[in-house]
Amino acid sequence: MKKTIPHDMIPRKTQSEIPGKKTKLQSVIPVRFIILCFLIPITVLTVVNLSCRRQQSEKHSAYSFRIPPDYLREPSDIPSFWLTSCDEVNNFLIKTVHKGQIQTVGTSAGGRQIRAVLYGSPRQGKGTTTFSGSLGFGDVRAYRGPDHDKTVYMSMAAVHGGEFEGIVGMVNLISVIETGKDLRGKEWPGITEAISEIDRLILIPITNPDGRERIPLRMELYRDTIYTVPEYLNTGGMPDGTITGWPQIKEFIPIDFSKPGFQGGYPNDAGVNIQHDNFLGKKQPETQALFNLAEREKPDLIINMHTGALYMRMDRPLGEPALHPAFDTLFKYVHSELAVNGLQETNDPAIEGNPARAATGVYNIDGAVNWHCGALSVVVESPSHAFSGNSATRKAKIESPDNLLNAQLICHQQAMRFLAKTGGRSKWLPASK
Ligand SMILES: [Zn+2]
Repeated sequence: MKKTIPHDMIPRKTQSEIPGKKTKLQSVIPVRFIILCFLIPITVLTVVNLSCRRQQSEKHSAYSFRIPPDYLREPSDIPSFWLTSCDEVNNFLIKTVHKGQIQTVGTSAGGRQIRAVLYGSPRQGKGTTTFSGSLGFGDVRAYRGPDHDKTVYMSMAAVHGGEFEGIVGMVNLISVIETGKDLRGKEWPGITEAISEIDRLILIPITNPDGRERIPLRMELYRDTIYTVPEYLNTGGMPDGTITGWPQIKEFIPIDFSKPGFQGGYPNDAGVNIQHDNFLGKKQPETQALFNLAEREKPDLIINMHTGALYMRMDRPLGEPALHPAFDTLFKYVHSELAVNGLQETNDPAIEGNPARAATGVYNIDGAVNWHCGALSVVVESPSHAFSGNSATRKAKIESPDNLLNAQLICHQQAMRFLAKTGGRSKWLPASK
């Protein structure tokens, strides 16, 4: 919900200008390459019992909550590319992923598997010091190890379970990588080219499976300018349908699941919104899994996909100040391309791509993981398919599922292109001595 101002054309290095590349994804990947929970209607309310999804080897918390039945209506015409439930995504991964590896990188508080899809080869060898040590020493290569100049892209979606756009984007990105086309049959040569120039991809379609399973919908009904329902599904609320709301929900972490009503898709089954976990204390299993993965892979760039903006918007993380120039370039890559594709307030890449317009986030998982492993780690907020912030002005409607998917894929494409062309952390911040 921000506006943006002019910038110059983005300088882009050619591949031949980036020294020290060792392993390209193309050497590994041929580049031409609810919970249907029981809805028990009672006169006014619906009771959703999560224990119905218990599976062998997965132990889920048993609790129930009440959501007004109207809030659980789905559209009748859900597009075939709109895969968002845990089951849909898992089935898609099993069926589609051949070039990559599906890996369980952790288990949620509710006992659900957190799955990542990995492409390319990981960094080999280890550094000689901690990330903090490398900053003190003045050369981050001492932390990143012998192949510090490999480029590693990581992205995660559905840290908040009710934010479906990022899941759709991730699933379709995986489809492009695996088949050359998204699930609409559209080719993305820019994505194909970008991944051919990156060494490693790590994609997590559903980071908070507990929160995602808590919302028994594949797709929310579009409600024009009324955002009560998506807000309720995200932040929870009372049995009568009144919302807890944002940011009020953040006053209570962990949230008390014994309260009446619905606790929303933000928290895991321990009641914790992992975007705001206790990062320096005892972490939730989802957060710990992300931290372990980030420590192992040492990504250069992490894109954290959320929903909650009028136009797609990337926030400046509260992390290392030294990474601000890299963030500025990333912002230009993403926002200018969104603008020329009609997915920002104006079609002017100079206006929309100006990083001075980026808001700075608070201390959250993005900054925390930056300080943990040195990655430039940013949150991206998407518009929602469930309501329109534009309808009041009757501007071109950008919340169509097609446009939302286009924005997701353009964001991934441009973020990966940025990483490929700028060479990653070892090139952004050369040794200080
Ligand atoms: Zn979110």
